[in-house]
Amino acid sequence: MPKLSDRVGTFTDSVIRRMTRISDACGAINLSQGFPDYDPPREMLDALAKVAYEGPHQYAVTFGAQNFREALAKKAGRTLGRVIDPDREIVVTCGGTEAMMCAVMTVCNPGDKILVFSPFYENYGADAILSGADPIYVPLVPPEYDFDLNLVEDGFRRGAKAIIVCNPSNPCGKVFSREELTAIGELALRYDAFIITDEVYEHLVYAPYTHVAAASLPGLFDHVITCNSLSKTYAVTGWRLGYVIAPEEVAEAAKKVHDFLTVGAPAPLQEAAVVGLNFPESYYEELRALYTDKRDHFLAGLDSIGLKHNVPRGTYFVMVDISDFLALPAFKGMTDLEFCEWMIKNIGVAAVPGSSFFREEVNDLIRLHFAREKETLDEVIVRLGKMTALLNGQGS
Ligand code: GLN
Repeated sequence: MPKLSDRVGTFTDSVIRRMTRISDACGAINLSQGFPDYDPPREMLDALAKVAYEGPHQYAVTFGAQNFREALAKKAGRTLGRVIDPDREIVVTCGGTEAMMCAVMTVCNPGDKILVFSPFYENYGADAILSGADPIYVPLVPPEYDFDLNLVEDGFRRGAKAIIVCNPSNPCGKVFSREELTAIGELALRYDAFIITDEVYEHLVYAPYTHVAAASLPGLFDHVITCNSLSKTYAVTGWRLGYVIAPEEVAEAAKKVHDFLTVGAPAPLQEAAVVGLNFPESYYEELRALYTDKRDHFLAGLDSIGLKHNVPRGTYFVMVDISDFLALPAFKGMTDLEFCEWMIKNIGVAAVPGSSFFREEVNDLIRLHFAREKETLDEVIVRLGKMTALLNGQGS
């Protein structure tokens, strides 16, 4: 067979999405790939039903349907504290995934450096590779997931074109403070670099923490490429609706990348989603309250069975420490990936191995998400309880 490109040999498929396939094949409860198990808001479903008969069913404008971009500009304008031009500063993409890929491809030449915090959402590795960029990793150090600003400056000094900031952070739940973002922003200005943000969990930030958008900080808009999506906010991960907000010059370039990658996001789904973008602030407050409750409920469940975990300040992910299990003779020498496969088959719960998020050698963490009905989360705790019983020598 003819040879494939070197590029495809340099990264693996997504471990997150692989775990979902294994979980589905084994009938486990899937807490690996993060997506909600409830329906989108009724208003969006009604709109979708109407669209089925009234259209549109053909291409939207490549960089997003006019009414969708206008609604988006209004919503995002509130967060960013400025008027967003729907024609010049927005590119609608196929999910946050394409938004990120598009942003990295828009600013990086092959061989350019790009700063990435570790742990990081696994897509960023592939975004860098497919753009030919070399990541420089900066550790986020638990338990607070702080970082050393000197390392960020070092990266910029070495010529990094951009820094990726996932805020709040998948998988560790870090919420970047205004001070941290301001400090990163000062460096981006000083070294003339971009900040590429991934803010898909912007509404899942738990009190007392609040979300600050980097692009809203004074003087930073021209250096920030904001990537976001409707997936988590409106429970529509399958609709593949994302977007980039950037200054005109950047957005115009990103429009070209997007046009040739995908032509456009699904027109009927953009039409149906407009009603969601127009929801009042109370919708987002209720969403935050819903997830605060789920988080507290799930973490209390983990505590009740003695599983050690972090306390996420944002997102719907929690990192669970499995080192006590790996110290047992039965699991000796297992990788976290093997442990997750064992869990799916023997415990009936799917998680993501922590190693898929870290640059550093990490083998003692797994990631679970809690975007599930409370009853499902309770069943997960019952199943994980059988696992923790192994630690007390009570299991088989
Ligand atoms: N962001 C989600 C996660 O980390 C998944 C997104 C995706 O698979 N596209 O699980």
